[in-house]
Amino acid sequence: MSAEPAQQKTRKEEDAPDIDTTGMSKGKREALEMTEASRDSHWTYPTFAGALFMGELPWNLVYPLPLLADDEHERGEKFLQDFTKFLHDNIDPDEIDRVGEIPEEAIRGLAEMGAFGIKIPKEYGGLGLSQLYYSRAAMIVGSYCASTAALLSAHQSIGLPQPLLQFGTEEQKKAFLPRCARGELSAFALTEDAVGSDPARMETIAEPTPDGKHFIVNGNKLWCTNGTLAKMLVVMAKTPPKMRNGREINQISAFIIEADDPGVTVSYRCRFMGLNALYNAVIDFKDVKVPRENIIAGEGKGLRVALTTLNTGRLTLPANCVGAMRASIEMAKKWANEREQWGATVGKHGAVADKIAKMSATLFAVEAMTYLTSVLVDRKKTDIRIEAAMAKMFGTEAAWDLVYEAQQVIGGRGYETAHSLKGRGEYPYSIERLLRDMRINTIFEGSSEIMRLFLAREAMDPHLKAAGKAVNASLPMGQRLGAAMKASGFYMGWYPKMWLPFGGPSTAGMDDRLATQVRYAKKTAKKLARRMFHTMLSYGPKIEREQVLLGRFVEIGTELFAITSSCTYAQHLIGKGRDRKELVNLVDFFCRESRLRIDNHFRGLKNNNDRQGYKLAQQVLGDAMPWLTDGTVGEGPIVNRE
Ligand SMILES: Cc1cc2nc3c(=O)[nH]c(=O)nc-3n(C[C@H](O)[C@H](O)[C@H](O)COP(=O)(O)OP(=O)(O)OC[C@H]3O[C@@H](n4cnc5c(N)ncnc54)[C@H](O)[C@@H]3O)c2cc1C
Repeated sequence: MSAEPAQQKTRKEEDAPDIDTTGMSKGKREALEMTEASRDSHWTYPTFAGALFMGELPWNLVYPLPLLADDEHERGEKFLQDFTKFLHDNIDPDEIDRVGEIPEEAIRGLAEMGAFGIKIPKEYGGLGLSQLYYSRAAMIVGSYCASTAALLSAHQSIGLPQPLLQFGTEEQKKAFLPRCARGELSAFALTEDAVGSDPARMETIAEPTPDGKHFIVNGNKLWCTNGTLAKMLVVMAKTPPKMRNGREINQISAFIIEADDPGVTVSYRCRFMGLNALYNAVIDFKDVKVPRENIIAGEGKGLRVALTTLNTGRLTLPANCVGAMRASIEMAKKWANEREQWGATVGKHGAVADKIAKMSATLFAVEAMTYLTSVLVDRKKTDIRIEAAMAKMFGTEAAWDLVYEAQQVIGGRGYETAHSLKGRGEYPYSIERLLRDMRINTIFEGSSEIMRLFLAREAMDPHLKAAGKAVNASLPMGQRLGAAMKASGFYMGWYPKMWLPFGGPSTAGMDDRLATQVRYAKKTAKKLARRMFHTMLSYGPKIEREQVLLGRFVEIGTELFAITSSCTYAQHLIGKGRDRKELVNLVDFFCRESRLRIDNHFRGLKNNNDRQGYKLAQQVLGDAMPWLTDGTVGEGPIVNRE
């Protein structure tokens, strides 16, 4: 018998993870335990979107949306104006796409106007603007040039400024933030050959020197955006493990490494389907000596730094997507209005009109989710990890669908490059570039699949806290019984409330049609909470394996967040003078579409082919049905290219 089960038996209740990892493979258990140990297990501030999964709609957290201080407003608007003009005058997105480089003068100009230090406080040389203005700048650049958007965001959203602002010591802030604000670029290096979303497989190692004052870093990092230009790198590396309950717990630390330190080499510039001017690198680290003071947030806290940085950082992606969606709709509108086929402009044909309506409503919803979450970040009274993940997941998927549909509306010219269109004297629609650039957004900074897992984990958190230990087989029976008693007390209070229609959100001052949608969201949140609870009861700890099923709960919660964001944002805009009727029609249409999707997800909880699909996939992945892929050239394209 291995030593492990005996150790687990002596595990103290407070040390036990909320999720039962017994019975998991070693790889899965290590990955899960490492991520669990690094996630924020406490909710210092309330969560709006997270509460939906528990049948609550804490409407007062999001309605009314707060207005910005006048000074912030003026400075922010001025920056956005200058930024827009600068992009227009100095950036040619189609040329950048064609040659795969952003002109150096343009990068210098962006640095001079402070575009690399938008959120860095003024005392460290930045513009000191809010998350909201940062997101709005991301929308503007996202509408125009995705490569430039990535340059700015890899530096500010995941590069050095964000983790330093959240975790840096005063010395670190003083040493690095002014450089970041001046436009010395930074990059974030987590991914490796074997590390996509599973950091437990990390092979980059940082070993302390005998005097403990330095670490020696060895390894290599893949796909490091801005890596070929960066002066400073945030590098995740394994540091010596800690012992806990007789078991080695892997540690990851976040190091600030100067790109010109001896032993740091950019060994390759990667090129992609889109983002043609991405400065993305493979970086090798050979005996790189890094002072201990360059660890962010302390030894062993690296994964926490990475996860927390991404909580806010990934909000830039839906913001960029909002921009690209706006540009796509503009182009689709132009073609749908100008192009006549079969006796009418194509926009008058039902199939095309349906696309334009759905695209417009979806754009508004993603803008609303991003705007609201940005405001919540600025207000600092709400935990936004769930909101940002929902905005990222929903926004990037919706944006991909939208650009795809816009290309469909524009037809063949949507498939032709802008350069080619221009060459034969036509309007240079750039939807083909937008589609290529858009594709990566559901993959990086937390793929859609990982976002669904993350959201499912956070959605279940209150239940795991209340009852997880009662069903955790790694705990002694006595502790489990005690936990079960506590859990029953919690559920006796909580469960009946999920059936009672009381406690509706206060929608005073809201447009009636918007208020109706908010009430629907409240009622549906209760249904969501009941169904999730029943499902957790029937599956027990095995629920964790049901990714597709859990995904449906995540979708419903996300749709409810989209509905409520749209309503509060619309009301905010009405207050600022935007046309009420137009806005309410737009939001009402989005909500109706969203409700159809929600109904479908609820139906799918009972009526689905999940099991059959899983089995079929395993057969296909195994030896069954080799004829399915017959008919490829040679032995198949992959083999021939090796
Ligand atoms: C253009 C570009 C820029 C990038 N920039 C950076 C950067 O600046 N810094 C950096 O560190 N990294 C960067 N990355 C890496 C990026 O974050 C990873 O590509 C991403 O994390 C996914 O990892 P992977 O590609 O290895 O996919 P894999 O891990 O191989 O995953 C393959 C598929 O399986 C899914 N999957 C994986 N695990 C699970 C699971 N447990 N359950 C369900 N589905 C799962 C994934 O969602 C994906 O669909 C970049 C990548 C690209 C392409």
